[in-house]
Formats: sequence, C-alpha cells, structure tokens
Amino acid sequence: MGKLILGESDKQLLKQLVEVEKLLIVPEAHKLDLSRGAIVVPCADGDQMDDLFDDIRSLAIESGKKPRPHFLTEHGGAMVLSPEWHDPDRPGRARRLTEDLVDAAKMKDIYTVLLFCHAPCGKATACKVDIEASIRHLMLAKRVVKQLDPQFQVRCFVHIDWHDEFTGNGHFKETYFISAETWDKRNLRRTQPGI
Ligand SMILES: [Zn+2]
Repeated sequence: MGKLILGESDKQLLKQLVEVEKLLIVPEAHKLDLSRGAIVVPCADGDQMDDLFDDIRSLAIESGKKPRPHFLTEHGGAMVLSPEWHDPDRPGRARRLTEDLVDAAKMKDIYTVLLFCHAPCGKATACKVDIEASIRHLMLAKRVVKQLDPQFQVRCFVHIDWHDEFTGNGHFKETYFISAETWDKRNLRRTQPGI
C-alpha cells in the first residue's frame, strides 16, 4: 500500500469539520491534565508517528509538564476498542489493548488517556471505514475506556495528514481535539433537524 494520500471525500468532510463546524479544534494544553503523563493510544503508522509525538510533547511542555507519553499502539489506533470495530484478520486486539490500558495505568500511575484515530489510515482503508465512521468508533472507544476505571480521564483526538499536491503545501499535518459532547450534538442535529 505504501504511503497514503487523504481521499477526496474524507478531505471534504474533514475541512467541513475543521473550518465550518469547528468540531475539530487545535487542542489547548491547559485543558488536559498531563501532570502524571498520558497513556496515548494512536495507530502505529510510522509515516505519522514523528509528527504525532511532537504534538504530544508540545502539549506537555505548553502545560508546564515534563513529557511522559506512554504509547500503546495498534493498527487503527483507539478505533480497535470500539465494540463495533470489526477486523476479521486481527481478532482479539480489543481485549489485549484494554488489558494493556489497565496494566499501564496501574504500573505507571497514569490516568489521563489520549485516544486517537487518524486520516489517511491504512487499517481504516483496509476495513472500509471512512473518517466519519472512524470518529464514531473513537467515541465508542471512549465509552469503553471510561468503563474500565472511573479514574480515567479520556480525551479524543484526530490526527490528519493534509496532503495537497495542488497547492504545494506538501504533507501539512495537525492533531485536532474533538469533544464527545459536541460530536453527539452534531449527530443529533443531523438525525433530528430542528433540535
Ligand atoms: Zn493508521
């Protein structure tokens, strides 16, 4: 498959979510409790990890904390934890990842959990999951993690590689925060116009 380029339909929806609906926003460090570090659950994608790591590191430094990211990587990232996630080639991943999350929290005394999906994602593409469905899986994953331990503070993020061959911007990349509450409200408005 090699390096992936963001597909046109996903790009249009992401632009809508960032520029118009403003549901995907650049994260504010002071709103995250990174005092003891963070368990970070991203996709293992090596084309994106360097940028993602820089963003996590910058958030910690901005909030005045020493960066202490504890990475639990899976192909597909936190989407794997969604009860609706289905990858026939790699069963049993959710159970292993939840066990690792609980283990990591106890072992390192870290209860801030940063869940990620991203685009373009090879695993999402292989499983025919577009960015809208990816975010839905991310939100379902958040519920799962919160149920594992009431101490967990869970925040959701979408990492985007905005490749734009026409403007010459190259691979501009960004990490965006997305609130479960605003995402739910958006979907409620879409299914029940008038609310
Ligand atoms: Zn991926």
